Amino acid sequence: MTATAPITQDVMTIPRKAPEGLMPNLIGMTREQLRAALVAQGTPEKQAKMREGQLWQWLYHWGVRDFAAMTNLAKEYRAMLAEKFVIRLPEIVTKQVSADGTRKYLLRIDGGHEVEAVYIPEEGRGTLCISSQVGCTLTCSFCHTGTQKLVRNLTVAEIVGQVMIARDDLQEWNIPGETKREDRLISNVVLMGMGEPLYNFDNVRDAMQIVMDNEGISLSRRRITLSTSGVVPEIARTADEIGCLLAISFHATTDAVRDQLVPINKKWNIEALLAVLRDYPRLSNSERITFEYVMLKGVNDSDDDARRLVKLIKGIPAKINLIPFNEWPGAPYQRSDWARIEAFSDIIFKAGYASPIRTPRGEDIMAACGQLKSATERGRKSAKAIAAETERG
Ligand code: SAH
Ligand code: SF4
Repeated sequence: MTATAPITQDVMTIPRKAPEGLMPNLIGMTREQLRAALVAQGTPEKQAKMREGQLWQWLYHWGVRDFAAMTNLAKEYRAMLAEKFVIRLPEIVTKQVSADGTRKYLLRIDGGHEVEAVYIPEEGRGTLCISSQVGCTLTCSFCHTGTQKLVRNLTVAEIVGQVMIARDDLQEWNIPGETKREDRLISNVVLMGMGEPLYNFDNVRDAMQIVMDNEGISLSRRRITLSTSGVVPEIARTADEIGCLLAISFHATTDAVRDQLVPINKKWNIEALLAVLRDYPRLSNSERITFEYVMLKGVNDSDDDARRLVKLIKGIPAKINLIPFNEWPGAPYQRSDWARIEAFSDIIFKAGYASPIRTPRGEDIMAACGQLKSATERGRKSAKAIAAETERG
């Protein structure tokens, strides 16, 4: 019998490219991570800082997505980048434009999940409202997102990606050869979409660092507002590590009512929350905290509530943003009557606080605050699941 010829397989000579999903995405890397990734792929340490700067500009100043267009990098270097890295953003599933100009983007992210971002144009400014999680682990009883079953944290790329996609749509990137654009369509970013940003702290922080970076999107920290339901231990960190403006979903003036509306209150009650808020303006070197207050008929909208609210926040530089409740199918509350909202606003105003009533925007496309919930996740959490989470919470 002749010996069987050995089977050889020369895998090394077969050029392989990892599937796109497995290749490192340059979007969402911090500057340090980007530099380290370039060094890991053979960029000499001495050049790495410069390459990092060049790439950063292509990605976040010019909005370029194609390595071939990065003309100040050598051809071979561009080829290396294309072989080792991807530039990946969430995918737009649908874009809806409201009669009032509000734009809602439904975006698909890895795993087939969907999140929403909303652009709200106003006189002299434009605000982009972005999401930090798919759904939300919290279960505020008036919030549509809180009824969504599926939850995961968004990655840094998915958070920054929302800003980049809106910039694409509004054609806001700088164009090589033209003077730097000063007119900003997206002049403000608010973390008021789906999810609790302080339960995804690290990714939100890194994403906002990218958005604030002066050699890229370059949005000032004073033009970013993070809204939280009151994750007390992360509030001082927000001042320290992000330094943006803060909005608090306050919504009630007694613990009994706030426990019902914003169940995280059972963990950190009004007193604990106000204690950390008193330090925020000093720590973040920012002006006022926005207190968001959703107006629910017969629940939290009495004159007594308004007076209690003023008393509670005494001494905190604040603005109170009254939000007429935005209804959603099956919601257990109703919006307060207009006269009631105005009476409430009056009491606060007379006590010396700005008390703007937020005009609901994009209602015809369900883009208003608290109405976001991805189309694939319309199922309601069971009462049992909500009870279990509230207990854990
Ligand atoms: N999770 C964060 C940020 C997202 S919610 C937070 O709770 O702060 C953004 C704002 O919309 C919050 O103030 C929230 O309380 C409010 N909101 C939620 N549902 C609403 C609804 N149906 N109508 C009006 N405002 C709502
Ligand atoms: Fe989550 Fe904010 Fe909605 Fe509460 S209001 S369920 S914290 S998204």
